[in-house]
Amino acid sequence: MPEMTPENQPVLIINCGSSSIKYALIENTEQPRNERIEGLAENLGTPEAKLSGHDKAQKFSIDMPNAQHTHALQAILARLGQQMPMAIGHRVVHGGEFFNSAQRIDADILQKIRELIALAPLHNPANVMGIEATLAVFPHLPQVAVFDTAFHHSMPPKAYRYALPELLYTEQKIRRYGFHGTSHAYVTERASTLNQHQTPYGWLSAHLGNGCSTCAVWNGQSVDTSMGLTPLEGLVMGTRSGDVDPGLHGHLQRVLGWDLPRIDKLLNKESGLLGLSGLSNDMRTLEQAVADGHAGAQLAIAVFCYRLAKSLAALSCGLPVLHGIIFTGGIGENSAGIRAQTIALLPHFQAHLDTDKNDQLPRGQEGRIDTGAGLQLWVIPTDEEGRIAAETRPLIGL
Ligand code: ADP
Repeated sequence: MPEMTPENQPVLIINCGSSSIKYALIENTEQPRNERIEGLAENLGTPEAKLSGHDKAQKFSIDMPNAQHTHALQAILARLGQQMPMAIGHRVVHGGEFFNSAQRIDADILQKIRELIALAPLHNPANVMGIEATLAVFPHLPQVAVFDTAFHHSMPPKAYRYALPELLYTEQKIRRYGFHGTSHAYVTERASTLNQHQTPYGWLSAHLGNGCSTCAVWNGQSVDTSMGLTPLEGLVMGTRSGDVDPGLHGHLQRVLGWDLPRIDKLLNKESGLLGLSGLSNDMRTLEQAVADGHAGAQLAIAVFCYRLAKSLAALSCGLPVLHGIIFTGGIGENSAGIRAQTIALLPHFQAHLDTDKNDQLPRGQEGRIDTGAGLQLWVIPTDEEGRIAAETRPLIGL
C-alpha cells in the first residue's frame, strides 16, 4: 500500500452527459495515464445501456439495459474496488460570469449551476443531474465543480464582447465565454514547462476532437478563444458548423419555413465534417475516404484545415509575441496529415514543419514537430481529467 501523502489521494473525475457518464480515478499526481481506472457508461436510459472501460490494464464491458445515471454510478463505484476516492471532481461546461475558478460544491454553487442552464441548455442540465446523482451515491465525499469556461475569464472585453447592444450583455449576459478551458490550460502550461525558461510565453493551442476550438494564451492566461456564447462558434467540428453568417437563420426561415429547433439541429448535429463530406463526422473515416478518392471527404478536410489556420492567424492578434502552436485532442494528437495541411497554410508565421518528426510521432506521446528554425510546433496529448483532479485537490485541502 503506498503511503498517503497530499498528492497521493485518489480523486474520482466525473463528466456527465445527458445519456453518458465518463469517469476516471486519478490516484496520485505521478500515476501514468495508462494505469488509471477509467471508463464510460453510455446509452443510459435505453435498452442498449452499457458500462465499459479498463481497471488499470484489464478491459471490461457490461450490459446494463435501461440503467439510469444513479445505477451507472453505483456500478462505477463497484469497479473502483478498494480504491475509495477522497473527493469527486465534476466537469461542468458553463460557469458563466459567476466562476473564474473551480468551486467546492454546496447548495449555493449547485443553484448557480442550475441558473446557468439558460446559457447552456444542452450541457448544464446533464452536469446538474450528474452532481445530484453523485451526491446521492457518495453523500459523504466532498465534490468540486471545474468549469470549461473558467480559464477564459482572463479574456479582455475586446475579445469577449459581441458587437450587440449593451443591454444584451448587462441584462442577459450575452458575451463570448469560450470552452475546452481545462484542455487549453493543461497543454499550454505543459508547453511552457517543457521550455524550462521563466519567460512569458505566447501560445496558440488547437484542441481538435469532436468539438474543436483554438485559444491564444499569454503568460498562462487565455486572451482569446474561438468558441463563444455556446460551443457552436468558431471552427468546423464533427457535426457542428462553427461560424456561419448570422443571416442564415432568417434566410432558412424565409426560404424553407424552418423554425429555430430545426435550425439548431442543422447547425449542431448535421453540419461540420459530416455535413460537408456527406459521409462521416469521424476524421479517420474521412482520411481513409480521401485515400480512396472521395471528393466530399477531400472538401471537408480542406475546409476544416483552412478554417483552423484562419482562426490561428486571427487569434495571434491577441498575443504580444507568438512562441508556438500546440495541437491536441483526438485529431490534433493523431492526425499528422491535418497538422501538415494546417501548418502549410501559415508560411508567414515562420512555421517550419519537420515532416519526419510529424509523421513518426508515436500515438499518445508529446513531441516537437518543427525543424527548430522558427516557431515551435508541439503535439501535446491533453489530460482534462488530470487537470480537473489537480484543480480539485487544493479545494478540499488535499
Ligand atoms: P471528444 O471531443 O469526443 O473527446 P476525441 O478527442 O476523442 O473526441 O476526438 C475524436 C476525433 O479524433 C474523431 O474525429 C476521430 O476520428 C479523431 N481521431 C482519433 N484517432 C485518429 C487518428 N489516428 N487519425 C485521425 N483522426 C483520429
